[in-house]
Amino acid sequence: MGFCLFNNVALAAAHAVEALGRRRVLVLDPDVHHGNGTQRAFYGRRDVLYVSSHRFPFYPGTGWFDELGTGEGEGFTVNLPLPPGMGDADFHHLYDRVVGPIVAEYRPELILISAGFDTWKRDPLGGMRVTEDGYAALFGLFRRWADAHCPGRIAATLEGGYDPAGLVAGVRVALEILSGERPAPEGIDAGACESGSGDRRPGPAHALPYWKALR
Ligand SMILES: [Zn+2]
Repeated sequence: MGFCLFNNVALAAAHAVEALGRRRVLVLDPDVHHGNGTQRAFYGRRDVLYVSSHRFPFYPGTGWFDELGTGEGEGFTVNLPLPPGMGDADFHHLYDRVVGPIVAEYRPELILISAGFDTWKRDPLGGMRVTEDGYAALFGLFRRWADAHCPGRIAATLEGGYDPAGLVAGVRVALEILSGERPAPEGIDAGACESGSGDRRPGPAHALPYWKALR
């Protein structure tokens, strides 16, 4: 809505299901904005699992925990709204502890990433505090999930990012890790967390009932 002529990830996911016969496509959306168009495209379907972390409340206004999908797709939209100021350790914790178990249970046949880098620490719009180490840790997880469930079937499209230095850092580290040129880091040093204490870290909230791994 507003920024894209075509929703590349949604088109790719639809093509994977309709033309290639994939039955479980995972869309990961760490862009700082909620992907309202992607959510809407697959809201009633379980063949595309949409997982988004995003600042909330924020443009475009959607993406609260209770937007979970509908009908057959109930539980197959997972929204993780976040306050501003989240840093490397927060994002790693969220994806490792909350998204990881959901991914393991879903067993994706293809992983598509809405690769936005507007969570960058100096992004003029995003208000988050992610550094290059944070992107390395995040894409390290994505790469590991692909290796475990669908080796080689992982793709990213560039989405937001409004500080050129953040784009350079994020795109480079994402490509290096997805291509295997740079080893995926083991994790992240929690001591490097910029945004502080554990109690601010987000939890799975409404997604709990739908995923055994989180109960
Ligand atoms: Zn964005």
